[in-house]
Amino acid sequence: MASHYDLAIAGGSFAGLVCARSAALRGLRTLVLERQPAPGARVRTTGILVKEVAERWEVPSRLVRRIRGVRLYSPSLSHIDLDSPGYYFLATDTARLMTWFAREAGQAGAELRFGRAYRGAQPQADAIELLGMDARARFLVGADGPRSAVARDFGLGLNRQFLAGIEGEYVGIRGLDPDRLHCFIDRRLAPGYIGWAFIGVHGIAQVGLASRSPVKPDLDAFMAKLSGIFDLQGARLIGRRGGVIPVGGRVKNWATDRVLLAGDAAGIVSPLTAGGIHTALDSGWRAAHAIADHLMDGAPHPARILGDAYPRFLWKRGLRRLLDAAPPDWLADALISTKPLRVAARTVYFHHRDLMSARAWSDLWKSEPRRRANGG
Ligand SMILES: Cc1cc2nc3c(=O)[nH]c(=O)nc-3n(C[C@H](O)[C@H](O)[C@H](O)COP(=O)(O)OP(=O)(O)OC[C@H]3O[C@@H](n4cnc5c(N)ncnc54)[C@H](O)[C@@H]3O)c2cc1C
Repeated sequence: MASHYDLAIAGGSFAGLVCARSAALRGLRTLVLERQPAPGARVRTTGILVKEVAERWEVPSRLVRRIRGVRLYSPSLSHIDLDSPGYYFLATDTARLMTWFAREAGQAGAELRFGRAYRGAQPQADAIELLGMDARARFLVGADGPRSAVARDFGLGLNRQFLAGIEGEYVGIRGLDPDRLHCFIDRRLAPGYIGWAFIGVHGIAQVGLASRSPVKPDLDAFMAKLSGIFDLQGARLIGRRGGVIPVGGRVKNWATDRVLLAGDAAGIVSPLTAGGIHTALDSGWRAAHAIADHLMDGAPHPARILGDAYPRFLWKRGLRRLLDAAPPDWLADALISTKPLRVAARTVYFHHRDLMSARAWSDLWKSEPRRRANGG
Protein backbone atom coordinates (compact mmCIF):
# COMPACT_ATOMS: atom_id res chain seq x y z
CA MET A 1 0.00 0.00 0.00
CA ALA A 2 1.25 3.48 -0.86
CA SER A 3 2.75 5.60 1.95
CA HIS A 4 0.89 8.86 2.46
CA TYR A 5 2.59 12.10 3.40
CA ASP A 6 1.32 15.61 3.90
CA LEU A 7 4.48 17.07 2.45
CA ALA A 8 7.23 15.65 0.22
CA ILE A 9 10.38 17.72 -0.29
CA ALA A 10 12.80 17.15 -3.17
CA GLY A 11 16.28 18.18 -2.00
CA GLY A 12 17.79 17.87 1.47
CA SER A 13 20.08 20.89 1.67
CA PHE A 14 19.51 24.24 3.40
CA ALA A 15 16.01 25.01 2.08
CA GLY A 16 14.76 21.42 2.15
CA LEU A 17 15.99 20.51 5.62
CA VAL A 18 14.71 23.64 7.33
CA CYS A 19 11.40 23.24 5.52
CA ALA A 20 11.22 19.61 6.71
CA ARG A 21 12.04 20.50 10.29
CA SER A 22 9.41 23.23 10.55
CA ALA A 23 6.76 21.18 8.75
CA ALA A 24 7.34 18.18 11.02
CA LEU A 25 7.22 20.39 14.11
CA ARG A 26 3.87 21.69 12.89
CA GLY A 27 2.63 18.11 12.73
CA LEU A 28 2.84 17.43 8.99
CA ARG A 29 3.88 13.96 7.93
CA THR A 30 7.00 14.97 6.02
CA LEU A 31 9.30 13.12 3.62
CA VAL A 32 12.63 14.42 2.25
CA LEU A 33 14.22 12.90 -0.86
CA GLU A 34 17.91 13.73 -1.28
CA ARG A 35 19.99 12.18 -4.03
CA GLN A 36 23.27 12.49 -2.14
CA PRO A 37 24.10 9.43 -0.04
CA ALA A 38 24.48 11.43 3.19
CA PRO A 39 24.07 15.03 4.39
CA GLY A 40 26.92 17.21 3.09
CA ALA A 41 28.41 14.27 1.15
CA ARG A 42 29.24 16.66 -1.67
CA VAL A 43 29.48 20.31 -0.66
CA ARG A 44 29.19 22.79 -3.51
CA THR A 45 29.00 26.05 -1.57
CA THR A 46 31.66 28.15 0.13
CA GLY A 47 29.36 28.11 3.12
CA ILE A 48 29.90 31.59 4.50
CA LEU A 49 27.05 32.61 6.73
CA VAL A 50 26.07 36.15 7.62
CA LYS A 51 25.66 37.04 11.27
CA GLU A 52 21.86 36.93 11.05
CA VAL A 53 21.88 33.23 10.18
CA ALA A 54 23.92 32.26 13.23
CA GLU A 55 21.63 34.25 15.48
CA ARG A 56 18.37 33.02 14.03
CA TRP A 57 19.17 29.33 13.57
CA GLU A 58 21.40 28.92 16.63
CA VAL A 59 24.10 27.19 14.63
CA PRO A 60 26.46 25.35 17.03
CA SER A 61 29.64 27.33 17.60
CA ARG A 62 31.86 24.26 17.03
CA LEU A 63 30.81 24.29 13.36
CA VAL A 64 31.72 27.89 12.63
CA ARG A 65 34.55 30.42 12.84
CA ARG A 66 34.00 34.14 13.10
CA ILE A 67 35.52 36.48 10.53
CA ARG A 68 35.28 40.05 11.65
CA GLY A 69 35.73 42.12 8.53
CA VAL A 70 36.47 42.33 4.84
CA ARG A 71 39.69 43.21 3.02
CA LEU A 72 38.80 44.37 -0.46
CA TYR A 73 41.53 44.32 -3.12
CA SER A 74 41.61 46.29 -6.32
CA PRO A 75 42.77 44.54 -9.53
CA SER A 76 46.34 45.75 -8.90
CA LEU A 77 46.08 44.42 -5.30
CA SER A 78 45.81 47.68 -3.38
CA HIS A 79 43.43 47.08 -0.53
CA ILE A 80 41.08 48.65 1.98
CA ASP A 81 39.69 47.14 5.18
CA LEU A 82 35.96 47.29 5.79
CA ASP A 83 34.34 46.77 9.18
CA SER A 84 31.03 47.32 10.86
CA PRO A 85 30.99 47.29 14.66
CA GLY A 86 29.27 44.16 15.96
CA TYR A 87 28.98 42.58 12.51
CA TYR A 88 30.76 39.40 11.44
CA PHE A 89 30.69 36.59 8.91
CA LEU A 90 31.00 32.91 9.73
CA ALA A 91 33.13 30.37 7.95
CA THR A 92 31.50 26.95 8.36
CA ASP A 93 32.35 23.30 8.44
CA THR A 94 29.66 23.01 5.80
CA ALA A 95 29.42 19.22 5.62
CA ARG A 96 28.93 18.96 9.38
CA LEU A 97 26.55 21.91 9.35
CA MET A 98 24.41 20.04 6.85
CA THR A 99 24.53 16.95 9.08
CA TRP A 100 23.35 19.12 11.97
CA PHE A 101 20.44 20.52 9.94
CA ALA A 102 19.54 16.95 8.90
CA ARG A 103 19.61 15.75 12.49
CA GLU A 104 17.38 18.65 13.56
CA ALA A 105 14.88 17.75 10.83
CA GLY A 106 14.97 14.06 11.76
CA GLN A 107 14.53 14.79 15.46
CA ALA A 108 11.53 16.97 14.64
CA GLY A 109 9.93 13.90 13.04
CA ALA A 110 10.66 14.27 9.32
CA GLU A 111 11.51 11.11 7.38
CA LEU A 112 14.80 11.66 5.55
CA ARG A 113 15.77 9.42 2.67
CA PHE A 114 19.34 10.04 1.54
CA GLY A 115 20.62 8.37 -1.60
CA ARG A 116 17.09 8.60 -2.97
CA ALA A 117 16.50 11.01 -5.85
CA TYR A 118 13.20 12.61 -6.76
CA ARG A 119 12.38 11.03 -10.13
CA GLY A 120 9.25 12.86 -11.16
CA ALA A 121 5.71 13.20 -9.89
CA GLN A 122 2.22 12.83 -11.19
CA PRO A 123 -0.60 15.08 -9.99
CA GLN A 124 -3.72 13.20 -8.85
CA ALA A 125 -7.08 14.66 -7.83
CA ASP A 126 -6.17 15.09 -4.18
CA ALA A 127 -2.42 14.43 -4.00
CA ILE A 128 0.87 14.17 -5.86
CA GLU A 129 2.13 10.70 -6.67
CA LEU A 130 5.92 10.36 -6.45
CA LEU A 131 7.15 8.32 -9.39
CA GLY A 132 9.44 5.34 -8.84
CA MET A 133 8.32 4.85 -5.27
CA ASP A 134 5.09 3.84 -3.65
CA ALA A 135 4.33 7.20 -2.06
CA ARG A 136 1.92 10.13 -2.35
CA ALA A 137 1.92 13.55 -0.75
CA ARG A 138 -0.66 16.31 -0.42
CA PHE A 139 1.99 18.91 -1.23
CA LEU A 140 5.41 18.90 -2.91
CA VAL A 141 8.22 21.39 -2.33
CA GLY A 142 11.01 21.66 -4.89
CA ALA A 143 14.12 22.51 -2.85
CA ASP A 144 16.32 20.77 -5.38
CA GLY A 145 18.68 23.59 -6.23
CA PRO A 146 19.42 25.91 -9.14
CA ARG A 147 18.47 23.46 -11.90
CA SER A 148 15.30 22.19 -10.28
CA ALA A 149 13.73 19.04 -11.72
CA VAL A 150 10.50 19.83 -9.84
CA ALA A 151 10.30 23.20 -11.59
CA ARG A 152 10.87 21.53 -14.95
CA ASP A 153 8.33 18.74 -14.33
CA PHE A 154 5.57 21.12 -13.30
CA GLY A 155 6.22 23.81 -15.90
CA LEU A 156 7.37 26.31 -13.28
CA GLY A 157 9.91 29.10 -13.81
CA LEU A 158 13.51 28.09 -14.45
CA ASN A 159 16.64 29.99 -13.45
CA ARG A 160 18.31 31.41 -16.53
CA GLN A 161 21.13 33.63 -15.30
CA PHE A 162 24.03 32.05 -13.47
CA LEU A 163 27.44 32.68 -12.03
CA ALA A 164 29.82 29.73 -12.09
CA GLY A 165 31.88 29.33 -8.92
CA ILE A 166 34.87 27.18 -8.08
CA GLU A 167 36.80 26.87 -4.85
CA GLY A 168 39.86 25.01 -3.59
CA GLU A 169 40.57 23.97 -0.01
CA TYR A 170 44.26 24.36 0.82
CA VAL A 171 46.64 23.70 3.63
CA GLY A 172 49.97 25.47 3.82
CA ILE A 173 49.00 28.98 2.66
CA ARG A 174 50.74 31.59 4.77
CA GLY A 175 50.12 35.28 5.25
CA LEU A 176 46.32 35.18 5.02
CA ASP A 177 44.93 37.41 7.81
CA PRO A 178 42.46 35.08 9.58
CA ASP A 179 40.24 37.94 10.73
CA ARG A 180 39.42 38.98 7.17
CA LEU A 181 37.34 37.79 4.30
CA HIS A 182 39.73 38.67 1.47
CA CYS A 183 37.81 39.75 -1.64
CA PHE A 184 39.35 40.49 -5.02
CA ILE A 185 37.97 42.62 -7.82
CA ASP A 186 39.29 41.43 -11.18
CA ARG A 187 37.40 41.87 -14.40
CA ARG A 188 39.51 39.38 -16.33
CA LEU A 189 39.41 36.52 -13.80
CA ALA A 190 36.04 37.13 -12.15
CA PRO A 191 33.80 39.22 -14.41
CA GLY A 192 30.44 39.86 -12.77
CA TYR A 193 31.66 38.79 -9.34
CA ILE A 194 34.85 38.56 -7.25
CA GLY A 195 37.53 36.18 -6.05
CA TRP A 196 37.87 35.33 -2.36
CA ALA A 197 40.18 33.74 0.19
CA PHE A 198 39.82 33.14 3.90
CA ILE A 199 40.78 30.81 6.69
CA GLY A 200 38.01 28.31 7.38
CA VAL A 201 36.94 26.41 10.48
CA HIS A 202 39.82 23.94 10.81
CA GLY A 203 42.53 26.33 9.68
CA ILE A 204 42.02 25.22 6.09
CA ALA A 205 42.16 28.07 3.57
CA GLN A 206 39.25 28.35 1.13
CA VAL A 207 40.20 30.13 -2.08
CA GLY A 208 37.77 30.62 -4.92
CA LEU A 209 36.26 32.81 -7.56
CA ALA A 210 33.07 33.09 -9.55
CA SER A 211 32.37 34.58 -12.93
CA ARG A 212 29.57 35.23 -15.31
CA SER A 213 29.35 32.86 -18.23
CA PRO A 214 30.89 32.45 -20.77
CA VAL A 215 34.05 33.13 -18.70
CA LYS A 216 35.00 29.98 -16.77
CA PRO A 217 36.52 30.58 -13.34
CA ASP A 218 40.21 29.64 -13.46
CA LEU A 219 41.47 28.71 -9.99
CA ASP A 220 45.09 28.20 -11.08
CA ALA A 221 45.24 31.67 -12.63
CA PHE A 222 43.73 33.13 -9.47
CA MET A 223 46.25 31.30 -7.26
CA ALA A 224 49.04 32.64 -9.48
CA LYS A 225 47.73 36.14 -8.83
CA LEU A 226 47.53 35.52 -5.07
CA SER A 227 51.15 34.35 -4.99
CA GLY A 228 52.01 38.05 -5.28
CA ILE A 229 50.66 38.75 -1.77
CA PHE A 230 50.52 35.42 0.12
CA ASP A 231 53.14 32.74 0.62
CA LEU A 232 51.84 29.80 -1.44
CA GLN A 233 55.07 27.80 -1.58
CA GLY A 234 53.79 25.12 0.80
CA ALA A 235 50.19 25.27 -0.48
CA ARG A 236 48.58 21.87 -1.05
CA LEU A 237 45.11 21.39 -2.54
CA ILE A 238 43.06 18.98 -0.41
CA GLY A 239 39.54 19.52 -1.72
CA ARG A 240 37.42 21.24 -4.31
CA ARG A 241 33.87 22.49 -4.42
CA GLY A 242 31.85 24.46 -6.92
CA GLY A 243 28.66 24.91 -8.82
CA VAL A 244 26.35 27.44 -10.36
CA ILE A 245 24.62 30.28 -8.55
CA PRO A 246 21.36 31.68 -9.95
CA VAL A 247 21.53 35.47 -10.00
CA GLY A 248 18.50 36.43 -12.10
CA GLY A 249 16.26 36.85 -9.04
CA ARG A 250 13.06 35.05 -8.09
CA VAL A 251 11.65 32.98 -10.94
CA LYS A 252 8.27 34.12 -12.26
CA ASN A 253 6.09 31.07 -11.61
CA TRP A 254 7.17 29.26 -8.49
CA ALA A 255 3.93 27.55 -7.43
CA THR A 256 0.99 25.47 -8.69
CA ASP A 257 -1.94 24.25 -6.63
CA ARG A 258 0.06 21.45 -4.93
CA VAL A 259 3.68 22.34 -5.66
CA LEU A 260 5.98 25.19 -4.75
CA LEU A 261 9.66 25.99 -5.00
CA ALA A 262 12.04 27.22 -2.29
CA GLY A 263 15.67 28.36 -2.10
CA ASP A 264 17.82 28.24 -5.24
CA ALA A 265 15.07 26.37 -7.11
CA ALA A 266 12.93 29.50 -6.83
CA GLY A 267 15.87 31.80 -7.65
CA ILE A 268 15.83 33.18 -4.11
CA VAL A 269 19.49 34.20 -4.07
CA SER A 270 20.80 37.73 -3.84
CA PRO A 271 21.59 38.75 -7.43
CA LEU A 272 24.17 41.17 -6.02
CA THR A 273 26.15 39.23 -3.39
CA ALA A 274 25.22 35.74 -4.70
CA GLY A 275 24.56 34.76 -1.07
CA GLY A 276 21.79 32.20 -0.97
CA ILE A 277 22.09 30.25 2.26
CA HIS A 278 20.27 32.75 4.42
CA THR A 279 17.48 33.12 1.88
CA ALA A 280 17.26 29.36 1.32
CA LEU A 281 16.79 28.78 5.05
CA ASP A 282 14.27 31.58 5.30
CA SER A 283 12.24 30.50 2.27
CA GLY A 284 12.20 26.87 3.42
CA TRP A 285 10.92 27.94 6.84
CA ARG A 286 8.27 30.22 5.37
CA ALA A 287 7.14 27.58 2.88
CA ALA A 288 6.68 25.03 5.68
CA HIS A 289 4.51 27.33 7.75
CA ALA A 290 2.42 28.51 4.80
CA ILE A 291 1.78 24.90 3.75
CA ALA A 292 0.95 23.82 7.31
CA ASP A 293 -1.45 26.76 7.71
CA HIS A 294 -3.11 25.80 4.44
CA LEU A 295 -3.35 22.05 4.98
CA MET A 296 -4.19 22.06 8.67
CA ASP A 297 -6.06 25.30 9.28
CA GLY A 298 -7.62 26.06 5.90
CA ALA A 299 -5.55 29.21 5.39
CA PRO A 300 -5.28 30.59 1.82
CA HIS A 301 -3.03 28.84 -0.67
CA PRO A 302 0.67 29.17 0.32
CA ALA A 303 1.48 31.04 -2.91
CA ARG A 304 -0.77 33.88 -1.76
CA ILE A 305 1.08 34.16 1.53
CA LEU A 306 4.56 33.67 0.10
CA GLY A 307 4.08 36.08 -2.80
CA ASP A 308 4.91 38.93 -0.45
CA ALA A 309 7.26 37.01 1.84
CA TYR A 310 9.62 35.62 -0.82
CA PRO A 311 12.04 38.41 -1.75
CA ARG A 312 11.92 39.97 -5.22
CA PHE A 313 15.37 41.64 -5.15
CA LEU A 314 14.25 44.63 -7.18
CA TRP A 315 17.22 46.86 -6.28
CA LYS A 316 19.68 44.05 -6.41
CA ARG A 317 18.58 42.92 -9.85
CA GLY A 318 19.30 46.41 -11.09
CA LEU A 319 22.72 46.40 -9.45
CA ARG A 320 23.43 42.97 -10.96
CA ARG A 321 23.17 44.56 -14.41
CA LEU A 322 25.86 47.02 -13.35
CA LEU A 323 28.11 44.18 -12.15
CA ASP A 324 27.55 42.26 -15.37
CA ALA A 325 28.74 45.28 -17.28
CA ALA A 326 32.02 44.72 -15.33
CA PRO A 327 33.66 48.13 -15.03
CA PRO A 328 37.23 48.23 -16.34
CA ASP A 329 40.04 47.30 -13.95
CA TRP A 330 41.67 50.72 -14.23
CA LEU A 331 38.47 52.26 -12.88
CA ALA A 332 38.38 49.90 -9.89
CA ASP A 333 42.07 50.67 -9.23
CA ALA A 334 41.37 54.38 -9.38
CA LEU A 335 38.33 54.17 -7.11
CA ILE A 336 39.55 51.75 -4.44
CA SER A 337 40.81 54.46 -2.11
CA THR A 338 37.88 56.81 -2.59
CA LYS A 339 35.07 57.36 -0.13
CA PRO A 340 32.27 56.54 -2.61
CA LEU A 341 33.72 53.08 -3.26
CA ARG A 342 34.30 52.38 0.44
CA VAL A 343 30.79 53.48 1.28
CA ALA A 344 29.27 51.42 -1.53
CA ALA A 345 31.29 48.36 -0.50
CA ARG A 346 30.33 48.71 3.16
CA THR A 347 26.68 48.99 2.18
CA VAL A 348 26.87 45.79 0.12
CA TYR A 349 28.78 43.79 2.75
CA PHE A 350 27.06 44.98 5.89
CA HIS A 351 23.59 45.98 4.72
CA HIS A 352 23.13 43.26 2.15
CA ARG A 353 19.72 42.26 3.53
CA ASP A 354 18.23 45.69 3.79
CA LEU A 355 20.09 47.44 1.03
CA MET A 356 18.71 50.95 0.62
CA SER A 357 17.07 50.82 4.06
CA ALA A 358 17.12 53.87 6.32
CA ARG A 359 20.00 52.26 8.23
CA ALA A 360 22.00 51.74 5.08
CA TRP A 361 21.42 55.31 3.98
CA SER A 362 22.45 56.69 7.36
CA ASP A 363 25.59 54.58 7.16
CA LEU A 364 26.45 56.37 3.96
CA TRP A 365 26.99 59.57 5.92
CA LYS A 366 28.77 58.14 8.90
CA SER A 367 32.48 58.71 9.21
CA GLU A 368 34.46 55.90 7.69
CA PRO A 369 36.39 53.51 9.91
CA ARG A 370 40.17 53.56 9.92
CA ARG A 371 41.54 52.68 6.50
CA ARG A 372 44.60 50.47 6.16
CA ALA A 373 45.59 50.72 2.54
CA ASN A 374 48.85 49.36 1.20
CA GLY A 375 49.19 52.03 -1.38
CA GLY A 376 45.62 52.22 -2.56
C1 LIG B 1 30.64 27.99 -5.42
C2 LIG B 1 29.49 28.52 -4.60
C3 LIG B 1 29.76 29.28 -3.47
C4 LIG B 1 28.71 29.80 -2.70
N1 LIG B 1 29.01 30.49 -1.57
C5 LIG B 1 28.01 30.95 -0.77
C6 LIG B 1 28.32 31.54 0.47
O1 LIG B 1 29.47 31.60 0.89
N2 LIG B 1 27.29 32.02 1.22
C7 LIG B 1 25.98 31.93 0.79
O2 LIG B 1 25.09 32.40 1.51
N3 LIG B 1 25.67 31.34 -0.38
C8 LIG B 1 26.65 30.83 -1.16
N4 LIG B 1 26.35 30.17 -2.32
C9 LIG B 1 24.93 29.97 -2.66
C10 LIG B 1 24.33 28.89 -1.75
O3 LIG B 1 25.18 27.78 -1.68
C11 LIG B 1 22.98 28.44 -2.25
O4 LIG B 1 22.16 29.58 -2.47
C12 LIG B 1 22.31 27.49 -1.26
O5 LIG B 1 23.08 26.32 -1.14
C13 LIG B 1 20.91 27.17 -1.71
O6 LIG B 1 20.36 26.18 -0.89
P1 LIG B 1 19.20 25.24 -1.43
O7 LIG B 1 18.86 24.31 -0.33
O8 LIG B 1 18.13 26.06 -2.04
O9 LIG B 1 19.85 24.45 -2.67
P2 LIG B 1 21.13 23.54 -2.74
O10 LIG B 1 22.07 23.83 -1.64
O11 LIG B 1 21.61 23.63 -4.14
O12 LIG B 1 20.57 22.09 -2.50
C14 LIG B 1 19.78 21.40 -3.41
C15 LIG B 1 19.77 19.95 -2.96
O13 LIG B 1 18.89 19.22 -3.80
C16 LIG B 1 19.50 17.98 -4.11
N5 LIG B 1 18.88 17.51 -5.36
C17 LIG B 1 18.99 18.05 -6.60
N6 LIG B 1 18.25 17.35 -7.46
C18 LIG B 1 17.64 16.36 -6.74
C19 LIG B 1 16.73 15.29 -7.06
N7 LIG B 1 16.30 15.10 -8.31
N8 LIG B 1 16.34 14.48 -6.07
C20 LIG B 1 16.77 14.64 -4.79
N9 LIG B 1 17.63 15.61 -4.44
C21 LIG B 1 18.05 16.46 -5.40
C22 LIG B 1 20.98 18.30 -4.24
O14 LIG B 1 21.76 17.15 -4.08
C23 LIG B 1 21.14 19.29 -3.09
O15 LIG B 1 21.45 18.63 -1.88
C24 LIG B 1 27.37 29.59 -3.09
C25 LIG B 1 27.09 28.81 -4.21
C26 LIG B 1 28.15 28.26 -4.94
C27 LIG B 1 27.83 27.39 -6.12
